[in-house]
Amino acid sequence: MSFNMSIANNIATLQNSLPANVTLVAVSKTKPIEDIMEAYNAGQRVFGENKIQDMVEKHEQLPKDIQWHMIGHVQRNKVKYMAPFVSLIHGVDSFKLLKEINKQAEKNNRTINCLLQIHIAQESTKFGMNEEELLNLLSSPELTSLTNICIIGLMGMATFTNNQQQIENEFTYLKGIFEKAKQIHTTLSVLSMGMSGDYKLAIECGSTMVRIGSSIFGKRNY
Ligand SMILES: *Cc1c(COP(=O)(O)O)cnc(C)c1O
Repeated sequence: MSFNMSIANNIATLQNSLPANVTLVAVSKTKPIEDIMEAYNAGQRVFGENKIQDMVEKHEQLPKDIQWHMIGHVQRNKVKYMAPFVSLIHGVDSFKLLKEINKQAEKNNRTINCLLQIHIAQESTKFGMNEEELLNLLSSPELTSLTNICIIGLMGMATFTNNQQQIENEFTYLKGIFEKAKQIHTTLSVLSMGMSGDYKLAIECGSTMVRIGSSIFGKRNY
């Protein structure tokens, strides 16, 4: 039996099929340098990792024009390791974390782009804020003092289920929150939702950034 497992082909196929306004984040967590280089040589420049230490090591070894996205849960005491280079942090879910990112960005003379993670799934294991917490944070006067971060959008993960209707409801719910939030915070333009199993639905529901791992690199062995 032969089937296509070429990373380069998978990147090309995805890049050709995604709408022009949708950014592809190639999720390379657990994958070796060679696999990332194959995607890089196919033209991919945006990669996502979920562990800060792994991202730091890969950043050191790989071409410096790669844009590294942190897509996992962020511990405050580790922000300093990625602050010199991280391009976008997807999983920001508290004001405390934003403050730490701002502090570390300032030390590096940078502005770090952030997405606020919204909890839309049924599983309680998925991180994120609810709508009220989001709107409170965005309208907080203290936010204007954080001059080294820029909140450019929202991120969410749907429930892990085969129920397409439920996933669609969750994505549509997040899109609604995104539209509301844009009214109070005009720098919001990115809506990060959709993974290998649900990115097409996510795009139909308004996603502008998809985070795709296994459909590019194959299954992960943990
Ligand atoms: C692992 C991961 C992905 C990619 O998942 P796939 O199903 O392999 O595409 C996307 N988003 C987050 C937050 C992840 O942790």
